[in-house]
Amino acid sequence: PRPIELLNSALAETATAREMIRVGRAVVHWFKMDLRTRDNRALHMASEKAREAGVPLIALYILSPQDFEAHLTSPVRVDFMLRTLQVLKRDLSSLDIPLWVETVDKRTQLPGRILELMTDWGASHLFANIEYEVDELRREAKLVRMLAGKGIAVEVAHDTCVVPPGQLKSGTGNQYAVYTPWFRTWIRFIHDNPILLELSDPPGRNPETAREVFSTLYDCDIPSAPETKRLEVDDAVKLCALWPAGEHEAAKRLEKFCEEDIGSYGKNRNIPAQQGTSSLSVHFASGTLSSRTAVRTARDRNKTKKLDGGNEGIQTWISEVAWRDFYKHVLVHWPYVCMNKPFKPEYSNIEWSYDNQHFEAWKKGLTGFPIVDAAMRQLHGMGYMHNRCRMIVASFLSKDLLLDWRMGERFFMENLIDGDFASNNGGWGFAASVGVDPQPYFRIFNPLLQSEKFDPDGEYIRKWVPELRGISGKAIHDPYGRGASDKASKAGYPEPIVDHKGARERALAAYKSGIERD
Ligand code: FAD
Repeated sequence: PRPIELLNSALAETATAREMIRVGRAVVHWFKMDLRTRDNRALHMASEKAREAGVPLIALYILSPQDFEAHLTSPVRVDFMLRTLQVLKRDLSSLDIPLWVETVDKRTQLPGRILELMTDWGASHLFANIEYEVDELRREAKLVRMLAGKGIAVEVAHDTCVVPPGQLKSGTGNQYAVYTPWFRTWIRFIHDNPILLELSDPPGRNPETAREVFSTLYDCDIPSAPETKRLEVDDAVKLCALWPAGEHEAAKRLEKFCEEDIGSYGKNRNIPAQQGTSSLSVHFASGTLSSRTAVRTARDRNKTKKLDGGNEGIQTWISEVAWRDFYKHVLVHWPYVCMNKPFKPEYSNIEWSYDNQHFEAWKKGLTGFPIVDAAMRQLHGMGYMHNRCRMIVASFLSKDLLLDWRMGERFFMENLIDGDFASNNGGWGFAASVGVDPQPYFRIFNPLLQSEKFDPDGEYIRKWVPELRGISGKAIHDPYGRGASDKASKAGYPEPIVDHKGARERALAAYKSGIERD
């Protein structure tokens, strides 16, 4: 069974037992990647339960070292998450709700520790939003059963997607593997089910007695990052200014984008030198903004008051936010795609390269392809990379260098501030032609043409590759091929590590022979 089915059966089997559980001395909301108080489905349910019973609501966040191996692999992401917890703690405290944060040694200890805490606090109900990754779903299924056996109800909510996974079926009753028909159905489904865009109220204030009864929970410290995930002080200061944390910042950014830039999103979104996109991915990834709020805010600005029709920029932006849902739906239906496997089995036979020099050059932004190098250096400088450039560097790694796409996928997770398992996997699957809705393998990005088209004046390249700032005109895209060799080499900029034309032929042959071998 798929992991989501394990969770569903655990919920079904325990339904009667859970219904009979009476509210104890407190109700708990377990925060995961939903670090906000506004429009948070499970938090709202928890708050309502606590209010009805007149007991306090306690908020819980648990870190395990395994989190740092899976989702929180990048130090910039860890830093953002810890800063977000500080904001969340302050916001909850203003409602007299304590946020209890702790770390367990192993992920497997988590269910046991939650049981201990619930028992200590006399809490009867644990609320949480569902995370759709495989290990998380299996863990939640176990938790539901284990706690029900001890008289504690685990109640879960679909929150992270606008449309919960599993709802959209093709005419033949199957999960869509292709985005465009899926998106048409997504729009129709939301239209037919307007409740999906109804926003949940933030939690209410805790009863006055909460601070007395649970006094020790209110001065819980937010831990610092483990040593291996700690940023240098200068980087931490820079990233804090670049990416202010917390739901208030997310709301401000959304408002500003909808006010100033969304109308021209369709025109500007592919130009990395411009601030043409929302830069909200970090907030979606940490849950400081719900995609429901984002889609609804954009829709309400459309003169049609619909998801489609009307302003082109608004429509396009909504269709991009929908990609997030799409990849989560894929993850739930075909969990193996996020477990290092290509969507189609024949793509498992491609013989990838593991050339370490090539990989190092790609990672450091020293490939001799200015647009690729600028993009990789943006990643190091900001913990973020423009979407167009993510496609360019992913195509370059998997096709021009024929390196195993999983190396790039992992490197992104280790360095992105917005690293999201499903979206990152989907993006890599698309670029390397191994995912559900890929570019055909014979469509290989030409980095030079991409550079000329999307960074025509070389503004983005000059920003991120200082060695090339002295090069003018079209030579910026290909200094060694366009008469700027002396300047480039004097400035220490490397020659191209592969010849694109030859690399393209090699990739075509490798993909073809891998697929045909099946
Ligand atoms: P906007 O253009 O303003 O879009 C709004 C939101 O829509 C984004 O914040 C994001 O949540 C969603 N979105 C837009 N495009 C996509 C897409 N192609 N797939 C999924 N969601 C999308 N996005 C992540 O959030 N985390 C990742 O780890 C990630 N890895 C990627 C890896 C590769 C190889 C590629 C090609 C794309 C990846 N993306 C990822 C998608 C996309 O690049 C980023 O979401 C986008 O660049 C974020 O910038 P923005 O918030 O300004 O986006």
